Amino acid sequence: MARKFFVGGNWKCNGTLDEVKKIVSILNEAEVPPEDVVEVVVSPPFVFLPLVKSLLRSDFSVAAQNCWVRRGGAFTGEISAEMLINSNIPWVIVGHSERRLLLNESNEFVGDKVAYALLQGLKVIACVGETLEQRESGSTMNVVAAQTKAIADRVSHWENVVLAYEPVWAIGTGKVATPAQAQEVHSELRKWLHDNVGPEVAASVRIIYGGSVNGANCEEQAAQPDVDGFLVGGASLKPEFIDIIKSATVKKK
Ligand code: PEP
Repeated sequence: MARKFFVGGNWKCNGTLDEVKKIVSILNEAEVPPEDVVEVVVSPPFVFLPLVKSLLRSDFSVAAQNCWVRRGGAFTGEISAEMLINSNIPWVIVGHSERRLLLNESNEFVGDKVAYALLQGLKVIACVGETLEQRESGSTMNVVAAQTKAIADRVSHWENVVLAYEPVWAIGTGKVATPAQAQEVHSELRKWLHDNVGPEVAASVRIIYGGSVNGANCEEQAAQPDVDGFLVGGASLKPEFIDIIKSATVKKK
């Protein structure tokens, strides 16, 4: 089954109104492969979401960077999945390592969030990935499998899930995983899905790579058979994000 290439831009906690408008105008003017070749989703901070959504070209979509784990209410500072749906925000990033590590989001909490967001009708970019210490101790696949299991235990429909494999040691460090390292984890993760969720889900779920992807390294990564796209942080704020989107055409060669 062909999996459509997916490129997400995680703007994290960056940007001013002027900067955000500038990035959107660069995206709007860019020539990129058609929608049947690549799906593009950008994720600005919450306050800029409605503006970005209103200005952004219609073939690109938007994602929130987080949402609350259950129904809204007395949770100061949080944004509920219902609010995102009500604001026509179709996607949400859940379980980014910055939240797992800095805000102590556990595997179970992330799994609960993914399940609740899906139930409300959001599409979810669910992030998994190991720290350097975990990689060096040989536990990469155990860590990634445990993170994915916490999602799989709570989710029965995977059509609206994109899994982002983001090794923590590669995020924002300039130290990109080698294409072989990315491919190895992606194919192991697909095998895990095959054995624990089912062959259809394993064949159809997009597993995207994140961690210091840029205009120079994206094509080689995109050529890996189990790399179905990227989640991009730093480079998504720069014009080279367009080159990363264009790397989708590598799959057609
Ligand atoms: C990210 O934040 O998801 C990410 C991959 O960041 P960067 O591309 O900057 O490493």
